[in-house]
Amino acid sequence: MSIHNHPSLKSVRRVIISCERCPRLRVYCRRIATQKKLEFRDWKYWGRPVPGFGDSEARLMVVGLAPAAHGGNRTGRVFTGDSSGDWLYEALHRFGFASRPTAVSRHDGLVLRDCYVNAAARCAPPDNKPTPDELRRCRPYLEAEIDLLRRVRVVVALGRVAFDSWLKASGWWEKLPPAGRPRFAHGTETRLPDGTILIGSFHPSRRNTNTGLLTRPMWHGIFRRARRLLGPEPERRARKRRAGRGTMPGDEGERRPWPLNGST
Ligand code: SF4
Repeated sequence: MSIHNHPSLKSVRRVIISCERCPRLRVYCRRIATQKKLEFRDWKYWGRPVPGFGDSEARLMVVGLAPAAHGGNRTGRVFTGDSSGDWLYEALHRFGFASRPTAVSRHDGLVLRDCYVNAAARCAPPDNKPTPDELRRCRPYLEAEIDLLRRVRVVVALGRVAFDSWLKASGWWEKLPPAGRPRFAHGTETRLPDGTILIGSFHPSRRNTNTGLLTRPMWHGIFRRARRLLGPEPERRARKRRAGRGTMPGDEGERRPWPLNGST
């Protein structure tokens, strides 16, 4: 079955987790999972590709670069267990997209509301640099998630690679003339012809946050803007969630009949 024919996020997750398309990355992730970092020597590392995480009815998608060797590759959940995740989930919690501000393991109870987090590549790459071929091989997973997450209206892309990867996976890279393609910069906001709004942000990597290239006010500004664009979570869904029927971590939403960016 083509990845594009998968009927649910659950089946996409299953395929991602067992993927072996990039030998270099698979060898690297397994090696890291065996060698471990001293401070995590008691952990059983995940060591496999890391699927997306969040709410199947999300209106916000956050696209990262790839799991960190001792973050997602250890915990098995995207942006979980590393400093980038500390920044991401603190901001998502602050603006009402996450149930808690920290993410330490895939069993920590974190629930995303109205938000889905994924990445351009699903295996941790050496030096945080997937090759163009590895990004191309991994793109069908992002395409499948874009196809299934029909309510997404705002996309926050963390870094240029994630920004261009989302444009390619969503089809806009090809549909727009080169001169009309959105260009990455921190805080850029582009409304695409179908109404989806693409926001560029510097990645909250240690290199960017420690050097001050990305400051906390700059970072919060990105998610404050996403929240303003989306408005509050629709009341019907919030009621459902309060009644305990809301989506849960890594939920497994089925394909929905409404169109891309249809009204909620
Ligand atoms: S990076 Fe993507 S395509 Fe490559 S092995 Fe990992 S999951 Fe598969």
